[in-house]
Order: sequence, then structure tokens, then C-alpha cells
Amino acid sequence: MPSASDASDSSPEPHPLIVAIDGPAGAGKSTVAAHLARRFGLLNLETGAMYRALALKAVEQGTPVDDAAAVTTLTETTRIVLEPGNNGNRVLLDGRDVTALLRDPAVTAAASRVSVHPKVRHWMVTAQRAMGQAAPSGVVMEGRDIGTVVFPNATVKIFLDASVEARGGRRFLQTAGSAVAEDRVAITREIAARDDRDRSREASPLHPADDAIRIDTTSMSLDEVLACATEFVQAAVSRAGKYA
Ligand code: C5P
Repeated sequence: MPSASDASDSSPEPHPLIVAIDGPAGAGKSTVAAHLARRFGLLNLETGAMYRALALKAVEQGTPVDDAAAVTTLTETTRIVLEPGNNGNRVLLDGRDVTALLRDPAVTAAASRVSVHPKVRHWMVTAQRAMGQAAPSGVVMEGRDIGTVVFPNATVKIFLDASVEARGGRRFLQTAGSAVAEDRVAITREIAARDDRDRSREASPLHPADDAIRIDTTSMSLDEVLACATEFVQAAVSRAGKYA
């Protein structure tokens, strides 16, 4: 993974097709990203998994997640690799497959806290740009700052949103019966707290890019959301011709 010192502040040109998907937790970004990746033959990169992996390492090593200097120092000896597959990304942390550990509620909360530190974000963004630009067939990248910071020149930017109650309810149904199941009220509260932190942090707060297509999925079915997102990407592909 490139280190923070390799970072360039210039905005890279999209190459060849970059789809940015941003939005708050539980808005359906992963489902939409996976669908678009299959439909358009794109590499699917989940940037939240990188923040989760760094958070896991901090928790495991006892690094205080709110200590910007300590977490930044931790990045200097950390390597995170995303391996896109049919069922999401396999995540390697310093060569260890940590995929199964990243949805633990303690890791989720820690990820939201390590992500506020500007130098940590800079380190992540550098690596994410490199991964996106290295994808020969194009990429769909999901997160919070993809259309605003990582790829401000992305071919298509989609901002997915929904009411916090709808997002909490969906997450509850997704995790029901799994090892990380929590009750609906607790999940909704946790999502609202992450939203607050993501939207109010100083470094790259969560907000839609000016040129993002905003889709409020609160009252939409999954099929409707997928069809809508597919239509926007297809329109961009057709407009650009060269991607088709
Ligand atoms: O998307 P996911 O829920 O896996 O992200 C975990 C956390 O990582 C988020 O709550 C957010 O604080 C942070 N994140 C971020 N920027 C991204 C992706 C995730 O700040 N591009």
C-alpha cells in the first residue's frame, strides 16, 4: 500500500470508468455497488472495509482510536489489501484474512472513530486512488468521500440516502440470526451516531458532491433502486461511447 508520503493532492482523471457511490450507513451502497460491478464488469472496492481493518488493528493492539497521532503512526506499519470477489471484498490486514472480523459492532464503532483523523484519511485516499486507477476495466468504489475527495472526476456519482429508521430496519433484517445480530433500536441508534460523526467531522465530512445523482431509497424497493442506479450508469456509458 502506498504510504501517506506518496500522496498527490491533484485529482486523478477517471480511467477508464469510475462509478462513485457514497452515502450514510445502511443506505444500500454495497448491494448497489455489487450489482453495478457485475452488470458493467467493474472492480468493486469497499473503502469502508479499509477503515474497518485499520480499526481492528488499533483495537487488537490497544491503540487509542481517538488519538490521531497514535493511529497515524499505526498506518506506517500497516498494509491493507482489498480482494474483490462475488460476495464482497476479502480484506487482508498485514497479510491476514480479517474479512470475518470486520462487522463486529466494536470494530464498526472504532472504524467511525479512526476515520475522523485527517492524516489517516489522506493515507487511505492515496491507496484508494491507486487501486482505482490500477483497475483496467474500471471500478465501482463505495464509501463516504469517493465522489467528493477520492475521485472528484468520477464518471458517475451516486449518493444513496434513506431515513435513519429505514436504514436501521434494513440493517436489522440483514444481521438477524447472524453472529453480530443486535436489536433494531440499538442498530438504529448506532447508525445515527455514525451518521453524526461522519457528517460533522472536519476532514471530508459526508455530503453529496454537487454533481452527484441523489437517490432517496426510503420508499423504494431494492429492484427499483438497482434499476435506477443501472440506468444512470448506462446513460453515462452511452454518452461517453468509449466505455461501451
Ligand atoms: O461503509 P462502512 O460502514 O463499512 O464504513 C465504516 C466506517 O468507515 C464509516 O462509518 C465511516 O466512518 C468510515 N468511512 C469513511 N470513508 C469512507 C468509507 C468509510 O469515513 N470512504
